[in-house]
Amino acid sequence: MMQDTFTHKGLRLRMVESLKEKGITDEAVLKAMNDVPRHFFLPAGLDVVAYDESPVKIGFEQTISRPSTVAMQSQLLQVKRGMKVLEIGTGSGYQTAVLCRLGARVFTIERQKGLFDHTKPLLQQLGYNARCFLGDGYKGLTEANYGPYDRVIITCGAPTIPEALMAQLKLGGIMVIPVGEVEQEMLRITKNGESEAEWQVEKFGIFNFVPMLEGKEMKK
Ligand code: SAH
Repeated sequence: MMQDTFTHKGLRLRMVESLKEKGITDEAVLKAMNDVPRHFFLPAGLDVVAYDESPVKIGFEQTISRPSTVAMQSQLLQVKRGMKVLEIGTGSGYQTAVLCRLGARVFTIERQKGLFDHTKPLLQQLGYNARCFLGDGYKGLTEANYGPYDRVIITCGAPTIPEALMAQLKLGGIMVIPVGEVEQEMLRITKNGESEAEWQVEKFGIFNFVPMLEGKEMKK
């Protein structure tokens, strides 16, 4: 049974204070991150580090992004209530939960079956009603008629901007994506037109994500 104790709540408040010191100003993001119990998304027994500014291993060679990275990507995404958001890289589900708390209708894709099988029921059990899919995020979600999306967020390091994902983004929509092979530059792309020349690209510093890989991974 997972518990959200006064200690957890206290640690969370402190985490939010440190996010403010790091320049996160979006009140909705700060509130969402104060609301979502991050320790629920970490392997059991790691409560004590859940609110530290560190990336934590979640198994399957993956890591949950550090709090400041989740805050930064969420802030750059400029989510408004009711927006359709496509997330690539469900992982632990923490970023997914924060997007749900922001009022988004979240569609999230994970390529590793082991993580998908763990995270989908966890989100459901905690009351975050994101739609979870096992698949290759490079392709986005075309099989169902869910798109186009108001926002697209990629939480793994993409070598280039995936074409299929830009195609599934609404006109006027925003994509937040870390791009690069060894390390990544955080980009915010505003799709002001169908042609690439019309995309507005803004840069927000260097990050280290696990790589965005092609294809599904069915290993347990
Ligand atoms: N937002 C997650 C980040 C997890 S790490 C969290 O905070 O926990 C990035 C995740 O992206 C990993 O789970 C990895 O398996 C997944 N991933 C990598 N390439 C992918 C792809 N092509 N499609 C979907 N998921 C992918």
